Amino acid sequence: MERLGRFGVVVVGGGGAGLCAAIEAAAGGASVLVIEKRPVLGGMLHIANGEISGAGTRRQAARGIEDDPRAHWQDVMRLSHGKADPELSWETVSRQGGTVDWLEGLGFDFHPDTPALVHGHEVYAAPRTYWGVEQGRSMLRVLERELRRWVRDGAVRLVTGARVTGALVEDGRVVGVTASREGEGDFSAHGGAVVLATGGYDANRELRNRFLPPGCEDALIGCLDHATGDGLALAAELGADVTGNGTFLPVMGLIPDPARPGFAVDYREAFVEVAPAYRTPHEIWVNRAGQRFVAEDVTSPELRERALTGQAGLAMHIVWDDAVARVADPLLRNGAGDWTRERMAAELRRGRWIVAAPTLAELAARLGVDAAGLTATVERYNSAVAAGHDAEHGRTTLPMPIQTPPFYGMTSVGASILSRDGLRVGTDLAVRNREGGTIPGLYAVGEVLGNDVFAGDNYVGGMSVGPALTLGRMLGTRLAAQAREAADPEGTERPPTREEAT
Ligand SMILES: Cc1cc2nc3c(=O)[nH]c(=O)nc-3n(C[C@H](O)[C@H](O)[C@H](O)COP(=O)(O)OP(=O)(O)OC[C@H]3O[C@@H](n4cnc5c(N)ncnc54)[C@H](O)[C@@H]3O)c2cc1C
Repeated sequence: MERLGRFGVVVVGGGGAGLCAAIEAAAGGASVLVIEKRPVLGGMLHIANGEISGAGTRRQAARGIEDDPRAHWQDVMRLSHGKADPELSWETVSRQGGTVDWLEGLGFDFHPDTPALVHGHEVYAAPRTYWGVEQGRSMLRVLERELRRWVRDGAVRLVTGARVTGALVEDGRVVGVTASREGEGDFSAHGGAVVLATGGYDANRELRNRFLPPGCEDALIGCLDHATGDGLALAAELGADVTGNGTFLPVMGLIPDPARPGFAVDYREAFVEVAPAYRTPHEIWVNRAGQRFVAEDVTSPELRERALTGQAGLAMHIVWDDAVARVADPLLRNGAGDWTRERMAAELRRGRWIVAAPTLAELAARLGVDAAGLTATVERYNSAVAAGHDAEHGRTTLPMPIQTPPFYGMTSVGASILSRDGLRVGTDLAVRNREGGTIPGLYAVGEVLGNDVFAGDNYVGGMSVGPALTLGRMLGTRLAAQAREAADPEGTERPPTREEAT
């Protein structure tokens, strides 16, 4: 097996968390090895909205927004129903504003509307969410540029297309990793510290279903397929403690991909806009029995997500008619914002995800919904529209009846886009073993920790990307300091030369 040498810090995974850990470790003077299994860096930043929350930023100050990390932390605890880890959340939230300012310093292309209140999750008390003009990809651009600067400097060695397969352990301490490159054989690398920044497990259906509560196994996979839980499995082999309290809240609006059963249509292409703050709903949502289950204009994302959790197969079927199709804003959206009325009209004709039928009964059959149930539901809904009052669900937006053929319908299934459970760590981000001690030499950061630590049983805006970047930076800085302290006077812990690094 080829030996890559010895580094101060070995970072496994080149997503947001790994990139930030590597950048700060290099900035702190450590020699760093980054191993990424995909041919490209960035992990979930390729698909994510890339919303990051942070308080007390320069951008807030410039807009006269008064905010501070304490208020952000209180919001995190409120929105997570007190279930986020208070200490770890403070570790990140107290630094997240700093991360936002740091991104600005790196030339991050902020969306001009930011900081903003965001209605995709429960709303913060202050506008403190930021994203880039190209969502997560804007973030990736500046992080990758910064990392490659350190690669050119010789402080970071980057190996892509190599999957870390195991840990090297000496006297109970993790001292490195083994990895394999397709067609190029295996290699090993030693490090003063090994950082697992491998992301979540959500694309690994078997592993994901082990953590999901019963009845939620039908949740679509809404993330990229690198999220197979490698870091979780590797650390569990070493005796790591894995959190797991069985919480799940489906993300709404994702569309089952006919070409990949169980997976969602790529979020960058299309999703259904369900937030009434962004689009007035003209449709109804029904379950397989053809019954409505929530007010379609409910402003609380959590309320509608919990309502969906109770529906068979986490499925909701969206129903509208030709008159609605002519006046409503496009039901579909994406980050690029290119779902125009014309594109929506073309999609109706295309029939990839949307079905059309001359009667409600035929539409129900095509959607796999109970026909009598749907017909009766539409009748009651139309009466509510006529009366201007929805006694059943309290919907207040009742723009028009659903009565003009052709009728349209599409199915959306609740999705998981991030892992809720993960490796247990302390505020030092050292991986804990099942006896409550640490696994010496092994650290973890990013989604491999599971999102419950920062969001409890809910979603909290920007609290996955935010901690990934922020705690990644914090860990990189600390490990560099440790590496300096442990520096080998013989110079064997030297950074790779420029030739080795390229
Ligand atoms: C559609 C969508 C939208 C989202 N929007 C937001 C949002 O707006 N705000 C927010 O806070 N969160 C959001 N998230 C979640 C957020 O993007 C992720 O939680 C976060 O980016 C994870 O960062 P990470 O670095 O921990 O993991 P990842 O970005 O997943 O990176 C992990 C990296 O490790 C690599 N890797 C894995 N195993 C190995 C191995 N064995 N060897 C080598 N490399 C390995 C992977 O290939 C990957 O590059 C969203 C997620 C999705 C899917």
